[in-house]
Amino acid sequence: MPGHARPHNRSLVLQTLYTSGAMSRADLARATGLTRVTISDLVAELLGESLVVEQGTRDEARPGKPATLVDIHRAGFRIVGIDLSGHDAFQGAVLDFDGTVYDRVTVPLEGATGDAALAKVTDLARDLASRTTVPILGVGVGSPGVVDLAGTVLTAPNLGWKDLPLQQLLAAELGLPVLVANDANVAMLAEHSFGEALSDSMLVRIGNGVGAGLLVGGTLLYGNRFSAGEIGHVVVGTDGGEPCACGKNGCLETWLATPRLEARLAAATTDEERTRILERAGERLGIALAPIVGALDLAEVVLSGPAHLLDGPLATAALDTLRARTMAEFHGDLSLRGSALGQDIVMRGAAAMVLSGRLGVS
Ligand SMILES: [Zn+2]
Repeated sequence: MPGHARPHNRSLVLQTLYTSGAMSRADLARATGLTRVTISDLVAELLGESLVVEQGTRDEARPGKPATLVDIHRAGFRIVGIDLSGHDAFQGAVLDFDGTVYDRVTVPLEGATGDAALAKVTDLARDLASRTTVPILGVGVGSPGVVDLAGTVLTAPNLGWKDLPLQQLLAAELGLPVLVANDANVAMLAEHSFGEALSDSMLVRIGNGVGAGLLVGGTLLYGNRFSAGEIGHVVVGTDGGEPCACGKNGCLETWLATPRLEARLAAATTDEERTRILERAGERLGIALAPIVGALDLAEVVLSGPAHLLDGPLATAALDTLRARTMAEFHGDLSLRGSALGQDIVMRGAAAMVLSGRLGVS
């Protein structure tokens, strides 16, 4: 049906250019399987919207007129990416289609919750949007807590938010397209778009809390109540453990949250003891992840958080435990690695979300 084919073909053209870079209309037709006529038509439309740009010609071995190259207009737009998951600050950046950061702003949270925290987000987004004269494709926001598909924060206890229609409120305030999603899901998107994530992957974010984003068949999993990946308050093992803020004992967070790990490491007196603390945390992570890896047949686990804690004994113990507890036949080549995207992962993922939501590009 042509009415459905057109948006699909537009995304296909943009995705092909985004992934492969500048090419001629003839190459684009070959790469997408669309006809030359359809490609010329779509490229003309995208040129009109400044989403695609002509980039001179390429000398060809063949005789005749050299082909004009077209590319997605990488420098023609900016994206605002915002990370609300920080313990004591919100941060945001102005990025381009390739995830390059042009400008960044950090706003101390100063204990703000509820409307005061909302005002800080709005001011931050407005400040970032005012820092560029290039048109803005959209604003992406990674929020802690449970966020539904309409960008409403159903619950974010640390910020005192409940049923807050953040996406709708920001869009009305800014007059720009806005997309809001859970920070771990957004980080998973960053790994997929700008990192090296495979299509069946899990990204575990370890900070003040522990959360995860799940990518299955290249698609994010949301779950029954939009809380897929909320593994932080799942109890690991049957041998108790430290009390958790949620009222249970031995939640994954009690083993892995960075404040708890730092406190244990600070109290240790020898290197052997410190190594053992990190190994025990990694082992619990492996125990918690093994059934997930098995049930979903994941190819990899990506860890995002402080490298000085995660890299080394913790990651090694987690992978050893995962391997020992899953079927070597199916999961023997499972990989576990740290994300290379560092502290910008949520801001870059928020930009990836805007690219995907507005242009169908990932
Ligand atoms: Zn808990």
